[in-house]
Amino acid sequence: MTGTEWLQSYPKEGVVRRAYDLAALAHEDAKRLSGEPYITHPLAVAESVKDWGLDDDSVAAALLHDVAEDTAVTLEDIRREFGEEIVFLVEGLTKLKTLQYQNQNAEDFRRFIIAFAQDLRVLIIKLADRLHNMRTLRYLPEERQEIFARETVDIYAPLAYRLGMQKLSGELEDMAFPYLYPTEYKWLLREIKDTYEERQDYMNRVLPIVRRELGAHDIRPVAVDARAKRYYSLYKKLLRHNMNLSEIYDLVALRIIVGTVAECYAALGAIHSLWQPMPGRFKDYIARPKANGYRSLHTTVFAMDGKVLEVQIKTKEMHEENELGIAAHWAYEQVKKSSKKMEGWKGVNSKKELIWVQQLQNWQKAFATQKEFLEAVKIDFFKDRIFVFTPGNDVIDLPAGATPVDFAYQIHSAIGDTCVGAKVNGKIMPLTTELHSGDIVEIVTQKGKKPSEDWLQFTKTEMAKKHIRSKLKESASALRKKSGPLGVEFRIVNVDQPGFLKEVTDVFARNKINITFLNSQTDARQKFGTVTVRTPVIPQAKIEKMTVSLKKIPSTKEVGSRIIS
Ligand code: MN
Repeated sequence: MTGTEWLQSYPKEGVVRRAYDLAALAHEDAKRLSGEPYITHPLAVAESVKDWGLDDDSVAAALLHDVAEDTAVTLEDIRREFGEEIVFLVEGLTKLKTLQYQNQNAEDFRRFIIAFAQDLRVLIIKLADRLHNMRTLRYLPEERQEIFARETVDIYAPLAYRLGMQKLSGELEDMAFPYLYPTEYKWLLREIKDTYEERQDYMNRVLPIVRRELGAHDIRPVAVDARAKRYYSLYKKLLRHNMNLSEIYDLVALRIIVGTVAECYAALGAIHSLWQPMPGRFKDYIARPKANGYRSLHTTVFAMDGKVLEVQIKTKEMHEENELGIAAHWAYEQVKKSSKKMEGWKGVNSKKELIWVQQLQNWQKAFATQKEFLEAVKIDFFKDRIFVFTPGNDVIDLPAGATPVDFAYQIHSAIGDTCVGAKVNGKIMPLTTELHSGDIVEIVTQKGKKPSEDWLQFTKTEMAKKHIRSKLKESASALRKKSGPLGVEFRIVNVDQPGFLKEVTDVFARNKINITFLNSQTDARQKFGTVTVRTPVIPQAKIEKMTVSLKKIPSTKEVGSRIIS
């Protein structure tokens, strides 16, 4: 149950309170499947959005996020009442609902959602929406529960993680877990004696003891973090360890970050003097870094109440390096995956992927707090990209303004070369149509068709332009070759005599050679004439034979021939 008390801190005439009033009125008669008044849902979503530090426009949009779709209130009404900014956010959320995650590649779909959201605030409100829907998932019909849970694990939890919202990500996964793998979930609960909450509590008691002990050894840690492993994350780890729980030592874990390498070993000594180390579990990755460069001290101890506790100790520098290493690794994986999937995806696009990761990292680094970070999220590093679907639900990444021809070349050069038409969202559209994120594009091809020169005017991708140019060049030279010689021209100089022209044409007729051009001229004194005869291409032997025959005409003085082209 969500109360409305938190709304009181907002001014009465401000957008948040007014958005609440409108939403409450619009959803007045509606109920959730839980039987609660519908308004409890947008209220819960808005409260999360507020707690995560988003601006008032976002909180108002969260309150209004289901209004345009489910009630008589329209986007136009919201625009009039609340202005462009809020309607933009609500519209984004309404559009996101139309996206269907079916069997697409999950990574493609996540990227697509990010691009589609345009503004990261839309994405974060969407995550709050998903969080509350997961919390009330038990009220949904069974078959929809699984679809929702799957989408949450495949799409939304990883998105939350990438946005630096690790806690939300873990929470979402843990809520989906029992719906996706009920047997494994029950087994895990039975096997692990302490619940997640109990382990959290335990760590809260461990932390001050660790700090005190470090202080007693004159160590000033930069940070000491504790965490209890979440169920779904544990399940994934168990899958890698043959479901053998005795191989899992990090149900609770501690990370100590210090200033210097010397302090790392001093901290290790402090921990070992406090609690018994577990034999064979100490790893010195500072003296012997892992192959990927990872450096840290690892140990496992029997801590308070005899519980197994994993401890990592490293310097700030190592920590940052390790974190960045993971991101770099991730970026590399993305590139590898996508270039395998699609020819032509390499090059420019793989660089894009890396830029994507870097941008996200830089962003998070650039803002001191989560709140600041979230305040600044009205960015759109994807604004210049659109994501469209093939009929098979593959996502094609294109620059804004791209057309079906760009799309066709992105799929395959042969499809681009032979494309004659396009269906956008099921409707035949001109090849010059500007595509938008979310469009489903189908290309109509025709065997033997060639790109036309004006395609260069409206295509946006270098890939398309490159292929069009090379194909145009190819067909131009083919045309030249094919047209080759046009025919043969004979020039017969003669003593001007009446009837000469007929004798000439008779020679051609007898040899069954068509005349395509005939001209006869006489010189000023009407002494000599010149007859020009053109024919289609004929073999060289025939040209020679014709020359001989023409020379046999009594009035002929001279016969010449040349190939014309
Ligand atoms: Mn909703």
